[in-house]
Amino acid sequence: MTTPTLRRIRTSSPRRSPARTRRGTAPRSFVFRFDQLPEVKRTARTWDEVKALLGGKGANLAEMTRLGLPVPPGFTVTTEACRAFLRTGNWPRGLWEEELAALRDLEARTGKRFGDASSPLLVSCRSGAKFSMPGMMDTVLNIGLNAETVEGLAQLTGDARFAWDAYRRLIQMYGTVVLGVRDEPFEAVLAEWRARRGVENDADLGADDLRTIAGRFREIVREQSGREFPDDPREQLRLATEAVFRSWQGKRAQDYRKAAGIPDDLGTAVNIVAMVFGNMGKGSATGVATTRNVSTGEDALEGDYLLNAQGEDVVAGIRATQPIARLADDMPEAFAELERIARRLERHYREVQDIEFTVERGTLWMLQTRDAKRTARAAVKIAVDLAKEKLITREEAVLRVTPEHVDFFLHPQFDPESMRVARTERRLLASGLNVSPGAAVGQLAFDADTAERWAKEKKAVVMIRAETKPDDVHGMLAARGILTSRGGRTSHAALVARQFGKPAVVGVMALEVDSEKREATLKRSSTVLREGDWVSIDGTTGEVFLGQVDTMQPSLEDPALIELLGWADRFRRLGVWANADYPRDAERARALGAEGIGLCRTEHMFFETDRLPLVQTLIISRSEEERAEVLRRLLPLQRSDFEGLFRAMDGQPVTIRLIDPPLHEFLPAHDTLLREVTELETRQELQSETTPSEVVTLETKRRMLGAVERLREMNPMLGLRGVRLGIHMPGLVRMQVRAIFEAACTVAETGIDVFPKIMIPLVTHGNELRWEQKALEEEARKVMTERKRKIRYQFGTMIEIPRAAVTADEIASLAQFFSFGTNDLTQTTFGISRDDAETSFLSEYLTEGILPENPFDHLDEGGVGRLMEMAVRLGRDTRPGLDIGICGEHGGDPKSIAFCHRLGLDYVSCSPFRVPVARLAAAHAALRQRKARPVRK
Ligand code: PEP
Ligand code: MG
Repeated sequence: MTTPTLRRIRTSSPRRSPARTRRGTAPRSFVFRFDQLPEVKRTARTWDEVKALLGGKGANLAEMTRLGLPVPPGFTVTTEACRAFLRTGNWPRGLWEEELAALRDLEARTGKRFGDASSPLLVSCRSGAKFSMPGMMDTVLNIGLNAETVEGLAQLTGDARFAWDAYRRLIQMYGTVVLGVRDEPFEAVLAEWRARRGVENDADLGADDLRTIAGRFREIVREQSGREFPDDPREQLRLATEAVFRSWQGKRAQDYRKAAGIPDDLGTAVNIVAMVFGNMGKGSATGVATTRNVSTGEDALEGDYLLNAQGEDVVAGIRATQPIARLADDMPEAFAELERIARRLERHYREVQDIEFTVERGTLWMLQTRDAKRTARAAVKIAVDLAKEKLITREEAVLRVTPEHVDFFLHPQFDPESMRVARTERRLLASGLNVSPGAAVGQLAFDADTAERWAKEKKAVVMIRAETKPDDVHGMLAARGILTSRGGRTSHAALVARQFGKPAVVGVMALEVDSEKREATLKRSSTVLREGDWVSIDGTTGEVFLGQVDTMQPSLEDPALIELLGWADRFRRLGVWANADYPRDAERARALGAEGIGLCRTEHMFFETDRLPLVQTLIISRSEEERAEVLRRLLPLQRSDFEGLFRAMDGQPVTIRLIDPPLHEFLPAHDTLLREVTELETRQELQSETTPSEVVTLETKRRMLGAVERLREMNPMLGLRGVRLGIHMPGLVRMQVRAIFEAACTVAETGIDVFPKIMIPLVTHGNELRWEQKALEEEARKVMTERKRKIRYQFGTMIEIPRAAVTADEIASLAQFFSFGTNDLTQTTFGISRDDAETSFLSEYLTEGILPENPFDHLDEGGVGRLMEMAVRLGRDTRPGLDIGICGEHGGDPKSIAFCHRLGLDYVSCSPFRVPVARLAAAHAALRQRKARPVRK
């Protein structure tokens, strides 16, 4: 008796494609067998193009076939076919004939026939786009079974249970995927039969039960879809192919693409593969693995498997999976081969792989390989390790780590003390699998829509589900963290969470999640979690706490990260500086790798509690003497601030910007003052006696109110600020320059090198600089003469008004450096208020696509960028070698950093915590600029 078990065929004789023969010089076939990679490469020359045509899964199945690895025979319907179908809603001409021809070839190779009860060929129909979109599109297994072939399969295998189980799975998958029937009625029938037989797993249901269940499933299909389940395997295949094409347009696929930045017009390929079975008894198994640990980066095969099961059982997390290491005991030979193949694939692809395999009666089959998704920590360690193992270069290692990965190290973790308290208060509820690191604190939402809605209301959300499905992705993206009671390391929740850097704990078996009742019960306890309850989940340890645990910044002392950033530093051309206002920020920035301070906003120092009253007195005073007295008292305070900065930066440039904001920002709000003055006046009128202090207070408040009214402007951001303020109140900026140079001299006297760069903000006209800079340089020289010390220094300006950019030649004749203040430059170029727009019409613009992205997040290259380009050119024409940087928020944005690199800026300056991200982004910009060479696999 023949068995349906596939024999491995190691030869890969490339037969000619039937479609190609028929079509002669037809431009390109729609169908390629796995052994036809050489033909594919005739038109798709780079590996990227191969993946674009065959999808990632199809390309890798073909590549594994070429390598002689045990891949079941099959063929791929190209993304081109999918695109053509989606464009017209019809099968492109010739596609079905090509698919049938490939099917005949498959029959010849396997010695089985589609729809033949005496030797039935069964195939799977799997989606596979260019970029992996785990679980977002559809798959149908066991195509080819019908009322007759199922009997044949039962006879051939001698395992009726297996055959009927395969059949009921086909009807269920076909019903849900192709005919759009809900899954619940099928699952309800299975649950009913499990209860009837008193078993926990579907695997424990007998053949007769499954036969009855299959019959019931056919009825469900008829009742719910109004159509019969088709008995003709060819019809099954045709409709399944079509369903996979359509699933590219499904909501969950679209949501995923939007979040992952995958273009919408690629389409998916469809892979038709001869079925192999992991559920053919105890000698069979199915599993998934990664060639290294994708949570920690450790070099060890990591994964899960199930004996006697089909692929989706592992991912669904319905049965508890076994760790892959245990396969060595269950199936030593298959395990050893799997390890060998895993190593080979990793070396071949020069990248950690995520593989799917099935062992059918002792024979190992590879069903998939792809680059593995990983946590940020693993990404850094793996990149460094692969470079050290000489599998990749250091340049590649740096390019493989993304700014988001580095950003992860800057994300909060739980504060150990707060965690200890939570433990002693017995708030540690349960533990699960620590599948995506990081700490998340939020209120429980039991479904994706609620999670998304709450997140929009600015609530912190942890989404809890029994297990997640692709339909839940929008909620997962909106949530701070993800918690499930079922599922393993490779479950949907784990994969998606890791990719998007969401802390996640899955498989918390102690929790019984009831999404209908919107509550989760802790087994063997009276604790019930309800929707809206606060929980804290630790994706690093897998622990789940009740209530809110404090979070803290993680340490950046990860050795692999330090090493990788060190490599990045050697590749980048842009300097990375920091925006820091206080010595402690400067110290942190240096520790994180900053090479200078690109912006110290001096006015921030004025907001300190001991200084604000002085600044207010300065603003409201009318007499010169009073003003001079206040400036005399402010001088030592500013001086000590600057001394701290110079010491912290130890010879690196320190760019100090003179006061910028409009003066009313230092005074109380007009309405508040008016109310206070009125109240005080009324009280004094009603009281017969008034204390002297009340009189003084009223007088001061009246003067302040007067000043606020004098200084009131309709558009303060376009008013008396920046250099205009310096010109209006020369004493204040002269005091600042004196403080800078006195501090520089004091620190230099202790042997520390200093390099102040004095920056004048909001310049629009060369004359402003002529006026202001001259006076300030005089003050600087005066201090140096008094202190008998020469200090290396520069005077420069911010470019943050379009007029300054277009007259940069004139400005550069005076300024020794430029720094782009792109917050203001964006505001003034667009003519939109940076304080208001983002919460009003700008969000509408973004939703409607009127602006492609928020110009305050990413530099607007087409507008603001062109002004910058002009300023760089004009500035350097006038003053060759002019030092130019950027200190607006864009200085920490990777995309804007790449643009600054292309513009030829000298440095970017960003907040201290963005410095490591900027170091990597600057290296990426430099490496990417090197000519792109097509990589052939
Ligand atoms: C800028 O405008 O980009 C800038 C850095 O200055 P501020 O944000 O302080 O106006
Ligand atoms: Mg500004």
